[in-house]
Amino acid sequence: MSLQDRITEVEERLSRACQRSGRNRDDVAVIAVTKYVSLETTRAVVASGYKRIGENRWQDVEPKWEALSNEQHDVEWHFIGHLQTNKVKDVIGKFAYIHSLDRLSLAKEINKRASGMENKIKCLIQLNISGEDSKYGLNPDELFSFAEQVREYPAIEICGLMTMAPFESEPEQTRPVFRRLRELRDELNERAILDKPVTELSMGMSNDFEVAVEEGATWVRLGSLLVGKESL
Ligand SMILES: *Cc1c(COP(=O)(O)O)cnc(C)c1O
Repeated sequence: MSLQDRITEVEERLSRACQRSGRNRDDVAVIAVTKYVSLETTRAVVASGYKRIGENRWQDVEPKWEALSNEQHDVEWHFIGHLQTNKVKDVIGKFAYIHSLDRLSLAKEINKRASGMENKIKCLIQLNISGEDSKYGLNPDELFSFAEQVREYPAIEICGLMTMAPFESEPEQTRPVFRRLRELRDELNERAILDKPVTELSMGMSNDFEVAVEEGATWVRLGSLLVGKESL
């Protein structure tokens, strides 16, 4: 399947999911996850109009980041993977968003490395809603106290919430996870814990993005279905 065919399929399915749930296609943005593909393919993805690029390991993305930044592509980089504290210094200032803020020690390090920078670091709080051991993220019970504590870090701006659903052969099964993330965002805003309401819901991947869109995703993170998988 060519990249163009993949894009056509994804866009059709996205549009239908938006229609089904009464949403505007413009209210859902695609983050193209390029961790499985080469620099050349990443370039082609950007050239096709997907300017939001998601990656989850600095070691792997560094050459792509260097190349595309030098070529002056207007890429918006999203760090979506688990972020080790000792890697914060590498990614800070290079990624427009960090989707994986999941512990105070990480918030503290981001705040430290970002102080003196012109812009705040935009982060999403990652939640582990399914409770699987293999997944990173805060327990939902910890969200509100965590948000209160993160307010103490002036260089961090919380923009929303992120989660990964368990892989299900029947994607419909993921719905409660996505619904819960939306409810948690709404409750965070109702309680007005942060200085301003957060909007973003980063949820849904190749296997389950339609369900996530129906439940209010503002960002879907699409890897294999959209950009394919190459043996690197
Ligand atoms: C790899 C990855 C994705 C994309 O996965 P696909 O199933 O290939 O779409 C999305 N989010 C995160 C956090 C990832 O690590």
